[in-house]
Amino acid sequence: MSQTFDVAVIGAGPGGYVAAIRAAQLGFNTVCIDNWKNPKGKPSLGGTCLNVGCIPSKALLESSENYRRATHGFADHGIQIQGVTLDLAKMLARKDKIVDQLTGGIGFLLKKNKVTSMHGLGRFVSGGDTYQVEVVDGEKREVIFAKHVVIATGSVPRALPFAKVDNQLILDNEGALAIPSVPKKLGVIGAGVIGLEMGSVWKRLGAEVTILEALPEFLGALDEQISVEARKIFSKEQGLVIELGVKINTVTTTKNQVTVDYEGADGAQQLVVDKLIMAVGRAPNTTGLNLDAVGIKLDARGFIQVDTQCRTIANNVYAVGDVVRGPMLAHKASEEGVAAAELIAGQKSHVNLDTIPWVIYTAPEIAWVGETEKQLKARGAEYRA
Ligand code: FAD
Repeated sequence: MSQTFDVAVIGAGPGGYVAAIRAAQLGFNTVCIDNWKNPKGKPSLGGTCLNVGCIPSKALLESSENYRRATHGFADHGIQIQGVTLDLAKMLARKDKIVDQLTGGIGFLLKKNKVTSMHGLGRFVSGGDTYQVEVVDGEKREVIFAKHVVIATGSVPRALPFAKVDNQLILDNEGALAIPSVPKKLGVIGAGVIGLEMGSVWKRLGAEVTILEALPEFLGALDEQISVEARKIFSKEQGLVIELGVKINTVTTTKNQVTVDYEGADGAQQLVVDKLIMAVGRAPNTTGLNLDAVGIKLDARGFIQVDTQCRTIANNVYAVGDVVRGPMLAHKASEEGVAAAELIAGQKSHVNLDTIPWVIYTAPEIAWVGETEKQLKARGAEYRA
């Protein structure tokens, strides 16, 4: 017999699992549906963030920074270390272990809070007073009913049409976190947060790294003074080659190499690398949800349309996290998840997107919140620097 829930959450990333736990804590009979599988083919909770995002990238940033200090940083302090070697397989295994521990922890948290966990692709069948959602896992199909639904299906890496990700030569974030040996030459397309973090990891481990960015400004969302200073440190001190304002023409592969033809400051140029990381942003993920069945609309960029309180056009259906407007950050997704659960319970709750902090976990780490000096100037606000 089909089960009926007060709240069904689709997606168990930082938006979904947090929404489900908060809903259960507020007394709702809650189900959390998620379709992620790890490389071993096992269901793994925690979404992009825990499986192939925040957590594994931070694990590798820490390991690679330790390696860099041991090879380059300590001598200045009068600490001599001889014979430092890199055991990359062990470094990657440590990262995988952290991911396994934390994703397993989400299962424990759901259980402890009496959230029912279902594995499979959640798909709307019909709406009305109660929503019918089908959960598809291979041949297995199960239908559940829910009075409220929270969509937290996250995002997927954006691709360039002429550079197909195979995670052998051309890598997305998943591939970039699992390169089995340090490439001699590494290219990164995109000098955003992910591109800089991944570029830093592999540079510290010994790769020659070139980052190509389409925008003319370096980290344009940042305070100008900090972005100028950061660029100097990345380029001059750390040796990352960063080219801005480039236009990529073609990306071609041979058996072992990738060639990028692009227009740079000095005209037509070519970059030949052993691996190429694509870090050109992320796109909202609504694949398979069958939103038409409940009349939910997407905006021009593919995000689910919501109001300031994450309500969609469909009664009692909310959407949170990367699948809706606003910064694509884990803590933003979680805040919206909490807010959605509290709104379902009739409480007052809202997320102020202007107060979401951003962090880049490079060296130096850079964090900011709110408007920059440039933005304040542009809107004629009074400010003190
Ligand atoms: P996700 O985490 O993407 O989770 C969505 C889940 O829903 C997935 O498990 C997916 O499989 C599942 N799903 C999708 N469709 C369905 C369906 N129809 N049925 C069932 N399940 C479905 N953010 C930070 O704040 N700090 C960081 O340091 C940071 N580092 C990052 C590093 C990298 C390399 C990347 C790629 C991202 C990073 N982020 C970071 C961003 C962060 O990962 C996302 O903002 C966050 O994961 C969004 O959470 P979410 O719950 O909206 O979606």
